[in-house]
Amino acid sequence: MEAGFLPRTRFQEFLDTLRHAGYRCIGPQVRDGAIVYDTLARAEDFPRGVRDRQSPGVYRLESTGSPRFFSWANGPQALKPIVFAPREPLWRSECTADAAIHYSEINPAEEPLAIIGVRACDLAALRLQDRHFLEGPFTDPGYAARRKNLFLVAVHCTHPADTCFCVSTGDGPRATQGFDLALHESDEGYLVQPGSDQGRALIAPLSLVTATAAQQQVADREVEDAARRQTRRLPARNLRDVLFANLAHPRWEEVAERCLSCGNCTAVCPTCFCHSEVDETALDGHASLHVRQWDSCFTQGHSYIHGITIRADTRTRYRQWLTHKLGSWHDQYGRSGCVGCGRCIAWCPVGIDITEEAAAVCGGGAHG
Ligand code: SF4
Ligand code: SF4
Repeated sequence: MEAGFLPRTRFQEFLDTLRHAGYRCIGPQVRDGAIVYDTLARAEDFPRGVRDRQSPGVYRLESTGSPRFFSWANGPQALKPIVFAPREPLWRSECTADAAIHYSEINPAEEPLAIIGVRACDLAALRLQDRHFLEGPFTDPGYAARRKNLFLVAVHCTHPADTCFCVSTGDGPRATQGFDLALHESDEGYLVQPGSDQGRALIAPLSLVTATAAQQQVADREVEDAARRQTRRLPARNLRDVLFANLAHPRWEEVAERCLSCGNCTAVCPTCFCHSEVDETALDGHASLHVRQWDSCFTQGHSYIHGITIRADTRTRYRQWLTHKLGSWHDQYGRSGCVGCGRCIAWCPVGIDITEEAAAVCGGGAHG
């Protein structure tokens, strides 16, 4: 379908339209030196004229003077914290007066959310999380409740960071599916392309003029240029067999000498879903709360089974992360677990680069 044109001066009207349709708007904003998603009521709150500089172990924001709201690649969060809560109570148990135990389920609040500024890599990651939480033998009720209420406004990426490699994973920089609306940003405004019936219905009252062929050509060229600027890459093929044939490769030892087992990479990764569950007991011992929280394959407890920590050292934990993410995900979900967002590279405190580690073990170059 043809795109409509929304001048930037009407972006507040777009936000108001979403709010009148019942959505709380979540959008990117600058907080503590990074771009994060939070409730956004005013167009002035977008990161206007801001770009990110990312490299291994480095994330910095700079002002550019550009009128654009989306001239950056990504921040530490994707959609993951919105649909897969970092900490979530699942049920409560209480001891009743007759000494029985009463269990009550805790259901998440359902709230329609419109998320503005979603990138192609994060849509691909959401699709993977859908596979995991919704399409296995059991549906996760908390994830399902939050997921079904999302209205997704994607933005085609025109400013990839040096750490991005979504072209090589086939996930970006253009958003091609999984959105309700997709925006292409220019200095003057936005080409708005519906991707669902809800998206089409939402913008109908705005009566947007049809984007011109010249505007569409410029937009296409900007996304193609963004793709060409990416220099990192992952070996394109399925790495499962080569990774599992190299479990004794010396590179695992080398990376373990640098890796802190801090788990930052798994926290920022939009596809990682490991979690642990704990019971938090009230001080009087009469009630407890069963809580699910994010965990990481880099923690001591993650592989603890019956008195033994299976992966007791960093070598085996890093190897587990890479062989699962780039290898056995193919068996579980039919594709790699990496969407090329580059977050694990920028937010690793010692700058470990997944593309370099994969190339070192599997062959091929990390830079193209
Ligand atoms: S492994 Fe790294 S680059 Fe790949 S999706 Fe996760 S955070 Fe992004
Ligand atoms: S690879 Fe980096 S971010 Fe991941 S656990 Fe090791 S030091 Fe932390």
